[in-house]
Amino acid sequence: MIDFRLTETDRVHLDRTRAEALISRRYARQFDEAESEMIPDTLPEADDFYANLDPLPAVGAEDTQGPVMMLLQVMGQSWGDYSVRLRRSLQGGLGNAALAAAGTEEQKAKWGDLLLSMAITEPGCGSDPSRVTTTAVLDEATNEWVLNGEKIFVTTGLRATGVVIWATIDKSAGRAGIKSFLVEKGTPGFEVPHKEKKLGIRADDTAAYVFSDCRIPRENLLGLDESIPKASSGGFRGVMKTFNMTRPLTAAMGLGMAEAAIDFTRDELEAAGIRPDYSVGPGGMGRISAAAERFMRLEALFEASKLTTLQCGWLAGQGKPNNMESSVCKAHAGSSVREITQGCIEILGSVGVSRELLLEKWMRDSRITDIYEGTGEIQRLIIARGLLDYTRADLK
Ligand SMILES: Cc1cc2nc3c(=O)[nH]c(=O)nc-3n(C[C@H](O)[C@H](O)[C@H](O)COP(=O)(O)OP(=O)(O)OC[C@H]3O[C@@H](n4cnc5c(N)ncnc54)[C@H](O)[C@@H]3O)c2cc1C
Repeated sequence: MIDFRLTETDRVHLDRTRAEALISRRYARQFDEAESEMIPDTLPEADDFYANLDPLPAVGAEDTQGPVMMLLQVMGQSWGDYSVRLRRSLQGGLGNAALAAAGTEEQKAKWGDLLLSMAITEPGCGSDPSRVTTTAVLDEATNEWVLNGEKIFVTTGLRATGVVIWATIDKSAGRAGIKSFLVEKGTPGFEVPHKEKKLGIRADDTAAYVFSDCRIPRENLLGLDESIPKASSGGFRGVMKTFNMTRPLTAAMGLGMAEAAIDFTRDELEAAGIRPDYSVGPGGMGRISAAAERFMRLEALFEASKLTTLQCGWLAGQGKPNNMESSVCKAHAGSSVREITQGCIEILGSVGVSRELLLEKWMRDSRITDIYEGTGEIQRLIIARGLLDYTRADLK
């Protein structure tokens, strides 16, 4: 049975995340404004903060753990700020998830300690990754792959020490010809021309990559499978499974920001003497103020999104398939965080758009939830295919 009630130990762990997040939040505006600066790996308060802590209670079998706890912690972190962390540990990037899903044991051992970004998107290829035009040509004489192409909007693109890049080894084979390759920063022919400038999550280091006759060893092909399947797209589908856990994580990041907006708006409303009244049923909404009613609807949206996201994590923790659920929670969170943050701004008026406060920033930052890791439209296509048992050819 699914039960998302928190235990006392859960709360202590999540309170710790909240305390860290509160400090991170102090730097949120600074790094939003100074988009070209890199956030230091440790903020000045970090040493004192960690030196004065009580040890966290041990997690027992009855406490929340695994992917569900990870999602709750990610929500708590981005409640503080999406990009700023009190201590920015070099946790894995999207490329590390791909390595874990598709790498050989040798590759995992060799590349596992690197922070790996994932470069799929190109100037002419986004939602449909099968249109990748970056090429990888095998030079049999030297046993090397030669990479040529351009990648854009690569998350952690500057900080990453390596990348998992998608390239085609045979354009005529379509999706079946697309393979992933491991490339280390500093490899000749691999350039990082610029950091992308963005509407939101501006402190995040999103970068463009260029590969010009970039030579990498033959064994850098992720999974080492050079064959091109004829009919099935099984290999491609396998790589896409990387997203089954990263999509709920993206949802959780957006939901953390939406929760920050909700908490801020609740405080502002209460200061103005407007209190949500949860005792009125759907029929009694006319008896409370329009602002409180609107706010309660946004809260309900948040709870629904949070539950679909945690359910997806729970399935992953149980080792059960969650392909459909990962798209459901991503699609739901993507649209609900947009509605929540914009709704909070509309409820509060000028306070909502002031750069003295963070609400407008949460709206800008959370916009990404519905774009990367597959847009909302693409998630809805995946959901529809799953529900109707359609293939990609039936519904695209
Ligand atoms: C901040 C940021 C970080 C990113 N990080 C990464 C990263 O680390 N690695 C990486 O590879 N990429 C990354 N991306 C790229 C991201 O994954 C793409 O932007 C996304 O997949 C959409 O692709 P696109 O921008 O080319 O839009 P397009 O594919 O051109 O889509 C444009 C619009 O058309 C819609 N659309 C497209 N196809 C269909 C369809 N079949 N049916 C209905 N509607 C459709 C889309 O939903 C969208 O609204 C990042 C992007 C951003 C903004």
